[in-house]
Amino acid sequence: MKFTPEHEALRKTVRDFVEKEINPHCDEWEEAGEFPIHDIFKKLGNLGLLGIQKPEEYGGMGLDYSYNLVAAEELGTAHCGGVPLAIGVQTDMCTPAISRFGSDELKRTFLAPAIAGDMVGCIGVSEVGAGSDVAGMKTTAKQDGDDYVINGSKMWITNSPKADFICLLANTSDDKPHKNKSLIVVPMNTPGISFSPHLNKLGMRSSETAQIFFDDVRVPQRYRIGAEGTGFMMQMLQFQEERMWGAANVIKALEHCINKTIEYCRERKTFGQPLINNQVIHFRLAELQTEVEALRALTYQACELHVEGKDVTRLASMAKLKAGRLGREVTDSCLQYWGGNGYMWENPVSRAFRDVRLVSIGGGADEIMLGIICKMMGTLPGKQRD
Ligand SMILES: Cc1cc2nc3c(=O)[nH]c(=O)nc-3n(C[C@H](O)[C@H](O)[C@H](O)COP(=O)(O)OP(=O)(O)OC[C@H]3O[C@@H](n4cnc5c(N)ncnc54)[C@H](O)[C@@H]3O)c2cc1C
Repeated sequence: MKFTPEHEALRKTVRDFVEKEINPHCDEWEEAGEFPIHDIFKKLGNLGLLGIQKPEEYGGMGLDYSYNLVAAEELGTAHCGGVPLAIGVQTDMCTPAISRFGSDELKRTFLAPAIAGDMVGCIGVSEVGAGSDVAGMKTTAKQDGDDYVINGSKMWITNSPKADFICLLANTSDDKPHKNKSLIVVPMNTPGISFSPHLNKLGMRSSETAQIFFDDVRVPQRYRIGAEGTGFMMQMLQFQEERMWGAANVIKALEHCINKTIEYCRERKTFGQPLINNQVIHFRLAELQTEVEALRALTYQACELHVEGKDVTRLASMAKLKAGRLGREVTDSCLQYWGGNGYMWENPVSRAFRDVRLVSIGGGADEIMLGIICKMMGTLPGKQRD
C-alpha cells in the first residue's frame, strides 16, 4: 500500500489525539470500567475521525478505506484496548451497513449524528445461545401495521449501556436462516429496552458491555436497513470491515508490548547481565517483530483489494485469524520476560495480554475464520468448489 502525505497527516492527527485525550486517562478509565464516551466521541467527531470513510453529504470525509485503516492502526497506540474498541464499534461495526444500504432518513437520523459524535452506536448480533452461529439467533421483529415489534435479547454488546442506537440483527420471517434476517436501527430510548448490569470482563475494562433485553419494543419498519430478509448478507459484509479494523488495530498494540519489553529487558539484570543479552530473548523478540510485520503486510493487502472493490472475505478472515493468534503469542511471550512484574494487574503487558485475548473470540472466533478460509479453499467436507 502506498501512503500519501494525506494518510500521514491523518495518522498524526489520530496519534496526537491518542496521546493527548486517551493515554493520560487510561489507568483511571480501566479502573472505573468506563470512560466518558460522549465527550470523547464529540472530540473525535469534531476532528472528522468518526466519519473518515463516510459520505461527505452526511458529514463524513468521503475518503477510501485505506484512510480508515491508518486510523485503526494508529488507535492501537492507546495504552488500553477498551477505548479503541468502543471507537471501532462506532466507525466500523455499527455504521457501515447504514452508510451503504440505509435510507436517506436513516442516514440523517443516525449516521450523521454518529459521524458528528453526537450519538453513540452499538451493534447487536450475538445472543446467549448464538455467537459463532449467527444464523441460529432467536430475536424476532414481527410486523404490526407500519411497525416492527421486537422481542428477544442480545449478549456482550459493547457500548450498549451508553448507546443512543443499536444496529440490530433480528429475524423478520420464518424463512430459511440466511434469508429471514433484517438489520434494523433501534433508538435505545425506545420503551421496552432494558439492560443487565455491566458484564465483568477479563480485559477491555474501559469499554462498557452489557446484555440488552427487548420486550415488545416498537420501531417503525422504515428503520430497517435495506430490503427485508437481506440482513444476514449485509451483516456478513459489515463483518469484513470489522475484521480488517480488528487486525489493523492490534498491530501497534503488539509493537508497544515488544518495545516495552525491550526497554525492561535492557534495565533488568539477572546473573550480572541485562536480560536482553540472552540470545533466547533478543532472538524471540526479533521473531515476534517479524511476525507483526507479516500481519501488517497481510492486513494492508486485504485493505488494498477492498479499496479496489474486490471481495476480501478470504484475506480479511486471514488477517483477523493471524491477529488473534499472534496477539496471544506476542503478549504471552512478552509477559514471560517481565517475570513477576508481568503477572501484576497494572503492568502494561499484562493489560495487553488480557485485552488482546478478545481478538481470537469477538467478531468471529479463530475457528470461524478457519472455517471461512477452508470454504474459500474448497476444503470443507461436502462443500468442495469446482
Ligand atoms: C468483550 C466482548 C465484546 C463483544 N462485543 C460484541 C458486540 O458489540 N456485538 C455483538 O454482537 N457481539 C459482541 N461480542 C460477542 C462475540 O462476537 C462472541 O462472543 C463471539 O462471536 C463468539 O460467540 P460465543 O461467545 O457465543 O462463542 P460460541 O459460539 O459458543 O463458541 C465458543 C468457542 O467454540 C469454538 N467454536 C465455535 N464454533 C466452532 C466451530 N464451528 N468449529 C470449531 N470451534 C468452534 C470457538 O473457539 C469459540 O470461541 C463481544 C464479546 C466480548 C467477549
